Amino acid sequence: MALISNESLERVKGAADIVDVVSAHTDLRRQGARFVGLCPFHEERTPSFSVEPQEKLYHCFGCGVGGDVFDFVQEKEGIGFPEAVELLADRYGVELKREQEDPQAEARRKQRARLGELIERTAAFYATYLWDSKEAGKAREYLLERGLGEEVLRDFGVGFAPSAWDQVLTRGQRAGFSVAELRAAGLAQKGRSGGEYDRFRARIMFPVRDRRGRVRGFGARALRA
Ligand code: ZN
Repeated sequence: MALISNESLERVKGAADIVDVVSAHTDLRRQGARFVGLCPFHEERTPSFSVEPQEKLYHCFGCGVGGDVFDFVQEKEGIGFPEAVELLADRYGVELKREQEDPQAEARRKQRARLGELIERTAAFYATYLWDSKEAGKAREYLLERGLGEEVLRDFGVGFAPSAWDQVLTRGQRAGFSVAELRAAGLAQKGRSGGEYDRFRARIMFPVRDRRGRVRGFGARALRA
């Protein structure tokens, strides 16, 4: 994500004339080093709104609002911080420089998101396989005999991993994930001969979720004959 650089923020703040900005909303008059006027944020008859042109701060002794030139623009225009910076940069002719997020941190964040997606997709596949495949018949019987009921099992996302050695590998790769990613997600592993195969086979699969409900991994259970 590209962020506005700190240096650009300082330059916008330096270039912006807070008296000019505030004057678009209320008449200000000089009083020593400050400017005062009627507060543009609340109704009043005697001025309690004060602007410090040097520090570029404003404050109202009546309603308590206050802040810097960015806060003022955000409040008055009803926009967010980046938009307020852009508006002032445009108005005062400051070119904004943006800096990239640390490339390594960005790569790690993207990789985590990809692995999360892979795990979610695989959980959905296992769940479908539990209810739709002939192979999972015994697993369905076993689970239903324990009295949880189909609705609860579906809600929880319980699934079944096929006994074939490469179902998840093949599906994952077809969806654009690499073998390394499948391994990093804990779904594939290397055999003695060097080939890759599905880590979970012929297992009842219990998704392990984080506090936000996202699947982070699996508990696997073999079906006893
Ligand atoms: Zn006020």
